[in-house]
Amino acid sequence: MKVGIVSLGCCKNLVDTQKAMSFLKASGHSFVNDPKKAEVILINTCGFINDAKQESIDTILQMADYKTDRLKYLIVMGCLVQRYKKQLEKELPEVDLFITIDEYSDLAKILNDFLNSKTIKENKVVLATSDYSAYLKIADGCSNKCAYCAIPLIRKEYRSIKFEEIIRQAKELEEIGVKELNLIAQDTTRYGIDLYGKYRLADLLYELNKMNFTWIRILYMYPDEINDDLLEAMGNCDRVVPYFDIPVQHASDRMLKLMNRRGSKKHIIERVKKIREKFENPILRTTIIVGFPTETDEEFQELLEFIQEIKWNKLGAFTYSLEEDTASYNMEPKVDEKVANKRLEKLMLLQEKIAQENNEKYIGKTLDVLVEGRDSLDKRLYQGRSYGNAPDGIDGHVRFTSSRDIEIGEFAAVKIENVNVHDLFGKEVI
Ligand code: SF4
Repeated sequence: MKVGIVSLGCCKNLVDTQKAMSFLKASGHSFVNDPKKAEVILINTCGFINDAKQESIDTILQMADYKTDRLKYLIVMGCLVQRYKKQLEKELPEVDLFITIDEYSDLAKILNDFLNSKTIKENKVVLATSDYSAYLKIADGCSNKCAYCAIPLIRKEYRSIKFEEIIRQAKELEEIGVKELNLIAQDTTRYGIDLYGKYRLADLLYELNKMNFTWIRILYMYPDEINDDLLEAMGNCDRVVPYFDIPVQHASDRMLKLMNRRGSKKHIIERVKKIREKFENPILRTTIIVGFPTETDEEFQELLEFIQEIKWNKLGAFTYSLEEDTASYNMEPKVDEKVANKRLEKLMLLQEKIAQENNEKYIGKTLDVLVEGRDSLDKRLYQGRSYGNAPDGIDGHVRFTSSRDIEIGEFAAVKIENVNVHDLFGKEVI
């Protein structure tokens, strides 16, 4: 059957989508980009915050519109289903099959049974991203229980994937020719604790570094788990890029405690200092929540000063989203929505200034860029990413000109001539 795929939400979801695609491919199904040509559409949903839930429901309804003669089945899986399966079954009769995350261990069987297929011949990796860049999930679930977050309710306790299994999957990706490997989990730095009784992300890096990837990037690090062993391993492994994605959420110690985050502002500042001493041009990325219940003006001010002090290269910020069943649900007083939005605006204005200054430091430097696109009208224009731009679309791009034909997925050396808040602009150095 011809299957259309829609993967919403984070890159951890994308990895689950890839798994589903692998099973489907192994059972002889093929994939189409145009939903009008699909006989089955599989939607992997996100239920992280209210906006994501709405996007998931809108997408399901939009795809359901294609259910005419050709489109026979609509399958919906992912976080939204995990949380609201019963409700969705009642309210979305257009959907033929809902698959919860709890059922993922039987995903192949469920999909194949449903699509009336009998055997699974092989389970080769299928990339939902591209054939030069891939995400590799090293653990599932989360045991951190941050007070605002519904993920542990949805994805359950942290479960590291076996070391050998990760290496096996990495080898498959290496064989396909993947150049950029992005390690993901809800918390990558915790890797190993549950299975081996000790942190093993550093061991994993040493092993992966023996393979043929050009870039290995770690996403979603928990600040208090970035220990010296890990920094040592990152420094020793030449394929591991100095990219530090450390969602800190806030800076005030009272807020951090209330959010049930481990560590303190002092500790985060100390880790960042250590990273900057040890690595040349490290990229520091974070996420922040403003307007968490009881956040005062003074605490918000403290957050701004912290951001000004660290000068994160990349920063994503959100207003607090009220999620049922989380520890913060009943915390009072809530911050007024208008106040929270104002704080967000103020913070993002500050970050724009910082990002511009940070980006200007690249002017005159030459960066290796993984080429991802070419302008269809002006063929001299290309777009790609340096080690400082993760593939999840948050970090901006490098846009450049070149007089030669460059294949998508190739690397180009680009001299940066200009920048804005999001992107770097330059010319290929031949
Ligand atoms: S670390 Fe915190 S925010 Fe991240 S998934 Fe776990 S509980 Fe949620």
